[in-house]
Amino acid sequence: MNVNLTPNDLSHVVAADRAHVWHHLTQHKPYETVDPRVIVEGRGVKVWDATGKEYIDAVSGGVWTVNVGYGRETIADAVRDQLVKMNFFGGSMGSVPGALFAEKLLEKMPGMSRVYYSNSGSEANEKAFKMVRQISQRFHGGKKWKILYRDRDYHGTTIACLGAGGQDERGALYGPFPDGFVRVPHCLEYRKQWDDVSGADYGRRAADAIEEVILREGPDTVGAICLEPVTAGGGVIVPPEGYWPRVQEICRKYDILLHIDEVVCGLGRTGTWFGYQNWGVEPDFVTMAKGVASGYAAISCTVTTEKVFEMFKDDASDPMSYFRDISTFGGCTAGPAAALENMRIIEDENLLDNCLAMSERLMGNLEKLKEKHAVIGDVRGKGLFCGAELVADRETKQPVEEKKAQAVVAGAMVRGVIIGCTNRSLPGMNTTLCLSPALIVTPAEIDKITDAIDGALTEVFG
Ligand code: PLP
Repeated sequence: MNVNLTPNDLSHVVAADRAHVWHHLTQHKPYETVDPRVIVEGRGVKVWDATGKEYIDAVSGGVWTVNVGYGRETIADAVRDQLVKMNFFGGSMGSVPGALFAEKLLEKMPGMSRVYYSNSGSEANEKAFKMVRQISQRFHGGKKWKILYRDRDYHGTTIACLGAGGQDERGALYGPFPDGFVRVPHCLEYRKQWDDVSGADYGRRAADAIEEVILREGPDTVGAICLEPVTAGGGVIVPPEGYWPRVQEICRKYDILLHIDEVVCGLGRTGTWFGYQNWGVEPDFVTMAKGVASGYAAISCTVTTEKVFEMFKDDASDPMSYFRDISTFGGCTAGPAAALENMRIIEDENLLDNCLAMSERLMGNLEKLKEKHAVIGDVRGKGLFCGAELVADRETKQPVEEKKAQAVVAGAMVRGVIIGCTNRSLPGMNTTLCLSPALIVTPAEIDKITDAIDGALTEVFG
C-alpha cells in the first residue's frame, strides 16, 4: 500500500466514516462494535483497506464496475486534461469527448445510432422508459404504454425502476409504484418452472411465457420489454439457448421495442462488447453504465437505433415532438473523457480475449468446487460474470440460510478475497456467490479467488 496518509490520518478517516457516513445497502448496527471497512487504495485487481489489509477484489468495486482495474493513470490523465479545458456545459450543447465517445461506442454496436448521456444505470433506464412512453403518446394514441420486465431482473433504484424490478426484496418498502410495468417469468432453468422441457427448448418455453403475458395484457398496449442480457443481482442467470431468438421474434411480431439493460454486461463483462451480442440480438434500446468508464467517472448512456431517434425528430406542427428530457450532469465531460480511454484500454490490451480465457479458468475452478462441496447446487456464468448457487439440499434446492452465505463472504474476506452474494435477504430466493473480477485478472489471481472460496466453504459447511 502506498497511501500518503499517516496512521493517525487513517484512523481519523475511519472514525469520521463511522460517525457520519450512511453506507449503501448496509445495516449499521455492527459498526457500534467494529469499524466500517474503508478502502483507501487500489491497483490492478487489488485493493487495500485503512488497516493496510490487502484483498483481491473479485467483484470489480463491489458492484461489477471496475472492468479495467484500479490505478489507471491514463484515465486519470485524460479526465484531468479534459476538466481543466472544459468541465461542464449542460442542456443542448455538445462536448468534444461526448461526440468522440459516442462515435467510438457506436462502432462497437452495429445497428445502433444515437447516444443519450446521463449518470447512472437507473437514470439511463428511466430515459428509455420515458422514450417508450413518448412514442406511445405520439404514435399510438397513448395506448402502447406498458413496459414488460422479467422476474429476478433489476433495473435501478428509483421508484419507477423499482416498479420495473423483479427482485421484490428491493422494492418491498417503497411502493406504490407507477402503473404500466408488467412482470414476465424468469428463465433460470436450474429453478425450473416448466418440467417437460430442457436446454434450448426450455429457453424457447421461457420466452413463450412472455408472449402469454403480452396476449393477456393486449399486444396493442405493450410498448416495450426491458431485459438484462444476463441477470446480475437476481442470481447470475444466463438465459438458455433458444431464449433470445424467440424473444426477438415475439417483439417483432407484436411491434414491441426491445430494451436491453447492459448496465452490468456492457463494455466487455461477458467477453463481447455487449452481452446481447453473444446471441445476435438486435435491440431498439441499449442502456449501460458501470463498465462504461470503469468507475473513474459517473456516466451512463441510453443508446437507440436511428428508427427510434427518428420518432423524436422535430416536427414544426408539434412542439412536443422532441425528447423533452434533461440530465444536468449528463453534461459533465469527465464521463465521456474517461470512457474513451477506458475503451482504448479494453481494445489495446485485448481484454475481451483475456475475459474469455480467464472465464474458462474461473468456471473450471468453480465446477471443481462443486464436485467437492455439496452446498454448491449450480455453477453458471458468461465471461467474467460467474455465480455459484448455494443450496442446503441438492434435491430440494432449498437455499442455504442467509447467515451462512454471509459467513462464506466473510470467510473469503478474511482470506483476502472480496466476493459478492446475491439475493441474501429474501427467503426462497436463490443465494448465489457472485464473481466478476476485472477483465485484467490473471490465472494466479483466479486461483487465489477460488482457493479462498474453497477455504470459506469448508469453514462454514465442513
Ligand atoms: N441495471 C442493472 C442490471 C443493474 O445491475 C443496476 C445496478 O446494479 C442498475 C441498472 C442501476 O444502476 P445504478 O445503480 O447506476 O443506478
